[in-house]
Amino acid sequence: MIFSPRRCKQHGSSLPRSQTGKNQTMVKTPYDIEVAWQINDFCDFDCAYCWLHERDWTKSKRFAGIQDTQKVINSFNNAGLVWLVHMSGGEPFFSPHFIELCQGLTQTHYISINTNLSHKDVARFAKTINPEKVEFIHASLHITERKKQGKVKDFIQKYHTLKTRGFNIFVSYLMHPSILGRFEKDYAYFKSEGIILRPKIFWGDYYGIFGILNTPIVREVNRFNHIRSRLRKQYPNSYTDTQKNLIKAYIEKSRVDEGAIGQKHDAGQRTVDLSLDKNWADGLLSFRGRPCLAGVKFVKMDQYGKVYRCNDETKHYLGNLFNGGIKLLPEPIECSAEICSCPYVGSRYASNQILCQK
Ligand code: SF4
Ligand code: SF4
Repeated sequence: MIFSPRRCKQHGSSLPRSQTGKNQTMVKTPYDIEVAWQINDFCDFDCAYCWLHERDWTKSKRFAGIQDTQKVINSFNNAGLVWLVHMSGGEPFFSPHFIELCQGLTQTHYISINTNLSHKDVARFAKTINPEKVEFIHASLHITERKKQGKVKDFIQKYHTLKTRGFNIFVSYLMHPSILGRFEKDYAYFKSEGIILRPKIFWGDYYGIFGILNTPIVREVNRFNHIRSRLRKQYPNSYTDTQKNLIKAYIEKSRVDEGAIGQKHDAGQRTVDLSLDKNWADGLLSFRGRPCLAGVKFVKMDQYGKVYRCNDETKHYLGNLFNGGIKLLPEPIECSAEICSCPYVGSRYASNQILCQK
């Protein structure tokens, strides 16, 4: 049975035919289930477009992550499944004993990481972790922070360290309106250094030079609400046609350029698949009404082990993996979210033909 793509009511976007499942083959994976674990709230960078930017308290190492590494490893082992543990944050490398955690998890399971590549332990990770147990490393280039800290070369060197050791690493560049103007120049420079930048669609609010309107203190003052709503631009809907054309052109160009430098092409094989971004350049997607494997083959977990079906369907609380265990949904059920706020997940798991299968 093929499920038709639904139009997104809010944004009017829809999945193109290639994403309906008709032409897709079953994706086989060596793991039973994927968990998107937001491992911490701590990051050393201060990107203006980040949700962490709005919270001063995230700069405290108290929020670096869970201390009891062995308890976490045991919890995954005792669940009786082979996991793909996808770690994001914050910045995962700042989680306490992160390398030991990766060493322990990869004895039995697979891992993948979203990282800004800033931590000094990247070199130790490269030396001690088996690349075959790492599905991918998604390195985000945050060019403004890198420039500010004088660490552009550091990113390039760490990328090549991981690449040379055989890790499946790719680099994203968030197409935030504040840095869109410099993207083409950055693309050319990094390409000359052997790195292809994959454009990533920004979803969120942007106030331009009135960024102060989005600070926690101002947000609490109700009388500014009407000004805020007048000046707020919501993305991706607010990209101009010229910007959208640039982004889509570079999504395709980067895909071709990656092939030319021998980058492993695995579009459709992993959840963070940046070649899909073109599908939501006009607005985020909705899979409402479509059966989705989130809760069955994919779950979302917070840093303390609380597990939910996904980012949006938090009414489906499945238990705490670190305390008491979890109960997965027995079968796919319909998505009820108006918008899938992580369309990589929806694109993979709300199609009845893209299945994680051992
Ligand atoms: S590197 Fe990532 S987590 Fe850290 S501030 Fe920037 S966007 Fe946020
Ligand atoms: S992952 Fe997306 S499509 Fe699947 S249930 Fe959650 S919101 Fe719906």
